[in-house]
Amino acid sequence: MPHDNHDHDNHLDPMEARTRALETILTRKGLVDPAAIDAIIETYAEKVGPRNGAQVVARAWDDPAFAVWLASDATAAIASMGFTGRQGEHMKAVFNSDTVHNMVVCTLCSCYPWPVLGLPPVWYKSPAYRSRAVIEPRAVLAEFGVTLPASTCIRVWDSTAELRYLVIPQRPAHSDGLDRAALAGLVTRDSMIGTGLPLVLA
Ligand code: FE
Repeated sequence: MPHDNHDHDNHLDPMEARTRALETILTRKGLVDPAAIDAIIETYAEKVGPRNGAQVVARAWDDPAFAVWLASDATAAIASMGFTGRQGEHMKAVFNSDTVHNMVVCTLCSCYPWPVLGLPPVWYKSPAYRSRAVIEPRAVLAEFGVTLPASTCIRVWDSTAELRYLVIPQRPAHSDGLDRAALAGLVTRDSMIGTGLPLVLA
């Protein structure tokens, strides 16, 4: 979270307020360096972000052998592209198809595959998403603007500290001639959580 939001402290939820207070105390005592914290956050928000996951998806679309590897051992396949680190030690890739749409939640807290998606969006951590994704996934998807045929089965995966999920959306139609970088450009963060779909080609 950028530190330029400090004027808005009154709008923090209780957990954010406690986190902010803790950071303030640790900083005043000289135990942490705010610049170091910002650097870590920037790394996960900007560098180790969803563009990594997009490269994994684009390669899976473009390279059938890689897709097979990704399906059987996502941790190793993703690590082979250099995307490793905390919260990504145990990965599972779940593939959307014409009949199955996958969606990821962490009902307990906010487990999320950092090396491929960066830091989780605020809504992912919200109690409403965490409960409703399981109870009424189709309604949640509709609120994200995703309406699937009634015949599509929605499979919801509950992340844990032991296992994190990456949704591999279906390759968009009419994307045959695109190279891998262009394919990656179609892959949105939400499409890899399952609350969105890849961008549609004009
Ligand atoms: Fe969690």
